[in-house]
Amino acid sequence: MLSTMRNIGIMAHIDAGKTTTTERILFYTGKSHRIGEVDDGEAIMDWMEQEQERGITIQSAATTTYWKDHQINIIDTPGHVDFTAEVERSLRVLDGAIAIFDAVHGVEPQTETVWRQASRYHVPCVGYVNKMDRAGADFFNAVEDVKNKLKINTLPLQIPIGKESSFEGVIDLIEMKEIRWDNNGEDMAFSPIAPQREEAAKQWREKLIDTLSGFSDAITEKYLAGEEIDVSLIKSVIRKAVIKRDILPMFAGASRRNLGVQPIIDAIVDYLPAPDECAPEIGHNLKKEEDVSIPCDPKGQPLGLVFKIQNDREAGSLCYVRVYSGSFKSGSAVYNVGKKKRERANRILRMHSNKSDPIDSLNAGDIGVIIGMKLAQTGDTIGSEGLPVVLEKMQFPEPVISISIEPKTISDQDKLKDILAILSKEDPTFTTRENEETGQLIISGMGELHLDVLVTRILREYKLGAKVGNPQVTYRESISAVKEHSESFSKVVAGKENTAGVTLRVEPAQRGSGNKYVYAARTSGRSEVPQEITDAIESGINGAFSSGIVMGYPCIDITATVTNIQYSEQTSTAFAFEACASMAFDEACRNAAPILLEPIMAVDLNTPHDFVGEVMSLVTQRGGQIISMNSKSDIDEIKAQAPMEKMFGFMTNLRSVSQGRASFTLQFSHFEKKTER
Ligand code: GDP
Ligand code: MG
Repeated sequence: MLSTMRNIGIMAHIDAGKTTTTERILFYTGKSHRIGEVDDGEAIMDWMEQEQERGITIQSAATTTYWKDHQINIIDTPGHVDFTAEVERSLRVLDGAIAIFDAVHGVEPQTETVWRQASRYHVPCVGYVNKMDRAGADFFNAVEDVKNKLKINTLPLQIPIGKESSFEGVIDLIEMKEIRWDNNGEDMAFSPIAPQREEAAKQWREKLIDTLSGFSDAITEKYLAGEEIDVSLIKSVIRKAVIKRDILPMFAGASRRNLGVQPIIDAIVDYLPAPDECAPEIGHNLKKEEDVSIPCDPKGQPLGLVFKIQNDREAGSLCYVRVYSGSFKSGSAVYNVGKKKRERANRILRMHSNKSDPIDSLNAGDIGVIIGMKLAQTGDTIGSEGLPVVLEKMQFPEPVISISIEPKTISDQDKLKDILAILSKEDPTFTTRENEETGQLIISGMGELHLDVLVTRILREYKLGAKVGNPQVTYRESISAVKEHSESFSKVVAGKENTAGVTLRVEPAQRGSGNKYVYAARTSGRSEVPQEITDAIESGINGAFSSGIVMGYPCIDITATVTNIQYSEQTSTAFAFEACASMAFDEACRNAAPILLEPIMAVDLNTPHDFVGEVMSLVTQRGGQIISMNSKSDIDEIKAQAPMEKMFGFMTNLRSVSQGRASFTLQFSHFEKKTER
C-alpha cells in the first residue's frame, strides 16, 4: 500500500552521526540483531571494506525496513563533498529526509550544501540534533543556527532533559511527557513532566501551538477558546506543513548512547510523505515532444529511473530503480526508453543493506534492484514501448582532477580498461580517457579522496597492480568567438567511395550552460537524409566535444549548429559523416579563439580563533579569495574560492599552521578563464 510506504534519506555534514543513527534505526526496526558501531568498523550500511577502514560512507546503500506497519526504504547518503554524485542521485529519488545536525557545531559547511540540494529537489525534512551528550552540546543554539543559516522555520517538537554528560532524555511537546531510554535504548519509559521542567515545557509548547495556528484555523479556534488540542490534529497540521517545506520539526538525541532514535523513526511515518503525496514526477514524451506529469499509480504503465548501478562479480550489474508508475515484473521485458532497446529483468531484489530478498514485482512508489539489464546506465528511464517518456536526468558535477594510471605488467592493460569501464558505469563523476600520444590511461574525478578510493578499489577489489601519477587539474577548453566552417570528406575504403560534407557553426554559450548540439541543415541535394546519417553527425560532434580543441581537454559551453550538409545517395555513408562532422568541429573551434578554462573551488574552512590569521594568509598564498567570515563561539568559519591547481597538498599545510585543529572542505564551484600565475 502506497500510504504506508516511505522513501527517505539521511543527510548531514560528515561525522554528524548519519551512520551511527542509521545503525540504530535498523536495530530498533528489527532488521539487524545487534548494533554495529562505526568506530569498530562494523556498521552494516558501510559495507564496503574501505568504508569500514576509513570510517566514512562512500556509496549510498539502499535498505528496506519496517516500522509500525510502514515500509521504510532508507538510502544512506555520503557526507564527503567528493561524493556529491551519490548525494545528488539519492535526493533525486527520495521523498523525504532526516537532516542530522551536530549539537555542538550546528550547521556545518556540508550541511549547507546538502540542504541546497534538498531544496532544489523539494525534499521535505525533519531535523535531528544529535550528540546531545557531547561537551558543549546546546540544542537551542543548534536550532537557532539552523533557522538562521538554512532560512527555515525550525519548530522544536522536543526539548532535551539535561545536557552534555548528563543528557538523559527528552520532553515530547506534543504528548507533554518525558521520555527516557533503557536497555540499549530498546525500552522507552514515559513519565509526567517533572515540576522543575514544567515552566520551560509549557513555554515551548506555547510556541509550538502558536506556530501551528499560523497553518490551521482549527488550531487557532481551539487555542483561543482555551480548549484541549488533539494530538492527531497537531500531527496532521505538522505533516502538511513539513510536506510543503514550511517548517522543519526539530528532535534531540544522542544516537551513540541510544537516546532519542525511536521518535525520529515515528517522525518518518508521521511527517514525511508517502510516494503518492509528493508532487507527480515530470517526464518528457518523446513522441509528442511535450512534458507530461506521471501520477504515482501502480496500475499505470511502468516507468522507473535507474539511479544507481553497482557491479557485482557474480550477479553482474545491480540496477537500483525507483518506480514512478506501474509495475516491473521479475522475468519480464524492460524497455530502455532513451536507448530504444529492450532488456530483460531477470530478477528483482529487495535490498537489506548487504543482503537481499528476491521479489516478484516492484511497484510504483517503491525502490529495489533489477538484475539482468546490461545497457542501462545511471539516469536512464526504463518502462515500456507504450509510454515513450523519459524522466529528468540527474545533474552531476564535472570531474576536476585527474591522475594517470598504468598497470604494473603491460599484459594487464586490457583488464585495467575493463575495470575502469565498470567503475565509471557505477559512478558518473568518474571518467577515463586515453592520452592519444602516450597511450597512458587518465582517470578523472571530484577530488583527491575520490580518486584515492577508486584506485584502492582497483588494487584491492580487482587485485590489479597499478602505478598512479601525481594528481593534475582537469582543465576544459572552450571558444570565445563565433565561427562557421565547411568541411568535406572523401575516402576510398575497400574500393568503395565514402563522401560527406558538413557546414557547422560554433559559438560560445553562457559559462556553465554546457554544450549544445543543434541540427538545422538545409540539405544540398534533393533526396531525404536518412536518420542513420543525422545520427552519425550527432555522434561525431559529441565525440569531438569530449576530445578537446588544442590541448585535448573536454570542451564546455559551446553550441554547435549544423547549418548545411552535402549528401549523396550514391556515395555518402554514416562513417564518412561522423568523421567529417568531427573534423568540421575541430577546424571551426581552432579558428574561434579557443580558450583554456580552469576549475575554481569553493573552500570552506573552520578554524579555532587562535589560528584565523595563519589560515587566512595560507588561503591567500594559494591564490584564494576570501568571500566571507563568520565568528562563532568556538570557531571562525571562512568561505573562500581558489583555483584547483593551487590547492594540492593544502590539507598538510593547513594542519601544520593550525596544529591540526582547522578543517576544510574543497568543492567544485565553477570554471573560469585560466589566468597566468
Ligand atoms: P557520519 O559521518 O555522519 O556517518 O557519522 P558517524 O555515524 O560515522 O559518526 C561519527 C563519529 O561521531 C563516530 O565516532 C561516532 O561514534 C560519533 N557519534 C555518533 N553519534 C554520537 C552521539 O550521539 N554522541 C557522541 N558523543 N558521539 C557520537
Ligand atoms: Mg557514515
